Amino acid sequence: MDHQPATLPPHILLFPVPIQGHVNPMLKLAELLCFHDLHVTMLISEYCHSRLLRHGNIQSRSLLNPAFRFKTIPDGLPEDHPRVGVRALEAMPPNVTGPLFSELMTSTSCLASETRRPVTCIIADGILSFVGGFALEKGIPIIYFPSISACSYWACFCIPQIIEADEIPLKGNGMGLLVKSIPGTEGFLRRRDLPSICRANDINDPPLQFIKTECRKNLVAHALVMNTFDELEGSMLSHLRTHFPNIYTIGPLNTHLRTRLATEMTTSSSSSSTSSGSFWEEDRNCLRWLHSQPSKSVIYVSFGSITVMTREQYMEFWYGLVNSGQRFLWVIRPDFIAAGEDGESQIPVELEEGTRQRGFMVGWAPQEEVLAHPAIGGFLTHSGWNSTMESITAGVPMICWPYFADQMVNSRLVSEVWKLGLDMKDTCDRVTIEKMVRDLMAVRKEEFQQHVDQTAKMAKRAVSEGGSSYCNLDRLIQDIKSMIVVPHRSSERELTL
Ligand code: UDP
Repeated sequence: MDHQPATLPPHILLFPVPIQGHVNPMLKLAELLCFHDLHVTMLISEYCHSRLLRHGNIQSRSLLNPAFRFKTIPDGLPEDHPRVGVRALEAMPPNVTGPLFSELMTSTSCLASETRRPVTCIIADGILSFVGGFALEKGIPIIYFPSISACSYWACFCIPQIIEADEIPLKGNGMGLLVKSIPGTEGFLRRRDLPSICRANDINDPPLQFIKTECRKNLVAHALVMNTFDELEGSMLSHLRTHFPNIYTIGPLNTHLRTRLATEMTTSSSSSSTSSGSFWEEDRNCLRWLHSQPSKSVIYVSFGSITVMTREQYMEFWYGLVNSGQRFLWVIRPDFIAAGEDGESQIPVELEEGTRQRGFMVGWAPQEEVLAHPAIGGFLTHSGWNSTMESITAGVPMICWPYFADQMVNSRLVSEVWKLGLDMKDTCDRVTIEKMVRDLMAVRKEEFQQHVDQTAKMAKRAVSEGGSSYCNLDRLIQDIKSMIVVPHRSSERELTL
């Protein structure tokens, strides 16, 4: 299969699921790998690719760095599928995308070309287990990248024990009770904080069964890559390492990429700014507005790329923000209000007035730049893992309103374990929102800021030369360079599910 000169660099295939929060960290990893003389092909859905072409600056990324290229694959959804909310997770159904992936790989001799070797290593999203099946069959080393926190991943991995201990189904009872069946989390994780799939009424619920099985299928992998760092999640990582002996913790990827760009690219001709992988048009007017606001006076409000709200919830947030008397910058995506609830309605005059005086709204923001702006003093977030890491690295305390999935766990970590903010999980009323915004931005400002500053420093150390994530990335790159494809090898860790 391999007719190219042996001098061609190793060729890595990156394969994320088609959601902004999964594509973003993979794009950062792609850039890091390309800087280290590796060829990278990123396989993304046609839908995502068209969004990136329209709104990101990926064309310049591909053109500037010949080591990087995209390939596309259908996401298995009809054109008019909403691709938001819980339904975003319907993309890439294994029975559709699995065969398409095998066909693509086989018909292209594993993505080989005159200037590229066939793929020598695959790094796939943790919930694309069909990729592992193909890789094992072809003897290609496979690494999984679960783009969530180590704690959330560990909770998902322990679903069989949680079921065994009868702690789920929750049946709405005892939501405040501590979960006993996940080693290492006994002191802080309540049933309410479990990943939202655990809220199913029946243990045979398909999404619950899917996640339970996918995590176990990850065991065939050569290793895991995670966007976290040892100093933040050491205890959870040591539990995970009893099942996955090789975990490359290389986060926070956003600062890691920036640090490497600054230190390693100073002598090269490449640009030192990272590329944008946004699926929506970034409205940079918000930066201009921020320039005119006092230091740490603005709370940034954003619920990520797929959260949807009812109109009622939206109005509660709006009232809570306006009534808090604090300045706010709010991202309201065009598809943010749940379908069927987005009809025109009269905006109360007090909200219009409060927003005109102290607020700014955009459809999509350059989030990392916003969080790093001196005017930002807090972040009201849905606790997506990227947003959480970006807030930590920017040193911004958080109010967490988790929407679903791993976000339930993350918000508990932020509030109870790391003390970086407040968790308003399962509530959505204007009085609570107003109080929490005041607490975060004024009453308890110093207390949270102190914890966040310490954590941000820890993150910075992890990605600096000699730091844990820095060394792990070097190790990952060396390991990838020494990997060889062994056709028809059977895995020693063959799956027995
Ligand atoms: N994001 C952005 N602009 C926005 C809102 C979000 O660039 O206005 C980015 C954000 O920086 C993060 C990603 O979108 O990298 C969202 O990922 P996250 O894991 O936080 O949440 P998800 O969208 O997957 O729920």
